[in-house]
Amino acid sequence: MNPPLTQVIRRRVAVLGSTGSIGVNTLDVIRAHPDRFEVAALTAGKQVERLAEQCLEFKPRIAVVADAEGAAHLQQLLAGKVNGIAVLHGPDALVSAVLESDCDTVMAAIVGAAGLIPTLAAAKAGKRILLANKEALVMSGDLFMEAVKAGGAELLPIDSEHNAIFQCLPDRFGSGSIGSSRDHLGVEELWLTASGGPFRDKSLDELKTITPDQACAHPNWVMGRKISVDSATMMNKGLEVIEAHWLFGLPLTQIRVLIHPQSVVHSMVRYRDGSVIAQLGQPDMRTPIAYGLAWPDRIDAGVPALNLSQLAALNFSEPDFNRFPCLALAFEAAKVGGTAPTILNAANEIAVAAFLDQRIPYLRIAHVVRDTLAKVSATPASSIEIVLVADAQARRIAQECLSSP
Ligand code: NAD
Ligand code: MG
Repeated sequence: MNPPLTQVIRRRVAVLGSTGSIGVNTLDVIRAHPDRFEVAALTAGKQVERLAEQCLEFKPRIAVVADAEGAAHLQQLLAGKVNGIAVLHGPDALVSAVLESDCDTVMAAIVGAAGLIPTLAAAKAGKRILLANKEALVMSGDLFMEAVKAGGAELLPIDSEHNAIFQCLPDRFGSGSIGSSRDHLGVEELWLTASGGPFRDKSLDELKTITPDQACAHPNWVMGRKISVDSATMMNKGLEVIEAHWLFGLPLTQIRVLIHPQSVVHSMVRYRDGSVIAQLGQPDMRTPIAYGLAWPDRIDAGVPALNLSQLAALNFSEPDFNRFPCLALAFEAAKVGGTAPTILNAANEIAVAAFLDQRIPYLRIAHVVRDTLAKVSATPASSIEIVLVADAQARRIAQECLSSP
């Protein structure tokens, strides 16, 4: 028998947002590889019962929920069944889950701005960060990438497009050089693919009456409700353009979006010599999750093999910025820079939450984001404190914009 090429390190993983779509998929991959992974911490917002089940199965050192009431409920559910799990609550406890659980790997899968501070803590502490929470990077861009460098962290993108691009870049430039200039690699452009969401072919008139459930029924991917709405408006792709800009250190002019309804080509890199390298796969997040968890090894992700001969076609087309104003707003905010992407993200979170609560119609999401960007001035994002102030101010103004005509 041949000896293994590399010694397998058993990774201790903190899963932030373990009860969500990415969190559950992460635990699926971990469950299948007990020789490679153990769970150091699990965190959730409000889904205490699901978290309790996960705690009983994975026995983390630390479990975190949003508030004291949830923590008391979790204690009750665990009492007499499992020992040695510290149950904590609140935003500071998310940082404890990263710093005090003895983890070496952090799956950043909290949705929205709530994930920023614990993910930043993981960067400063030099962990392997599996980044699903794109909003954190959109908000803090430069500062986050600096923290990764200063802390000696290993940053691996989980968002399927960025994971694909990472796989399409030369492997001699591993995650240690993520964020550095790609000039010397001959990279000309990054092509981010987008399915176009469930309303790609609907008329503007039909979009007026879209319900939250319709917006969350994505044709190819099963995801949390916020990112599903972002995919329908294509704000998700806008956030991903900003994410790619920071992760791979390329200017916006070298990042393109292509509509690709089948979601089989997850993204591509075009090189100076005419080559285009693509990563293909099933639309199943366990592939990028397994890739990040085991990198640089490849492990079974539980994903069925792709059968290209069963696919009728792979189509690509340019996005229509008039039909998808959120995509245009994201490009504009990215060009302005500074705190503009933070303002964009905060306004979008407020507008999407209001749409999901049926307080505003679908088409108003873009209006709320546009009006908030017009009312809140962007400043240089020179510290996290400045970013958090811009986030809070944009949320306040976006709330006002919800009710303005
Ligand atoms: P989700 O809504 O299914 O899960 C979110 C998780 O975060 C849950 O565990 C929830 O309890 C927790 N959470 C929410 N608010 C919180 C708060 N204020 N404090 C603490 N915890 C909180 O979302 P998801 O689809 O799993 O997405 C998670 C992140 O991954 C998002 O940033 C999303 O953009 C990104 N992402 C998701 C997918 C996907 O396929 N689902 C793909 C690419 C990127
Ligand atoms: Mg994506």
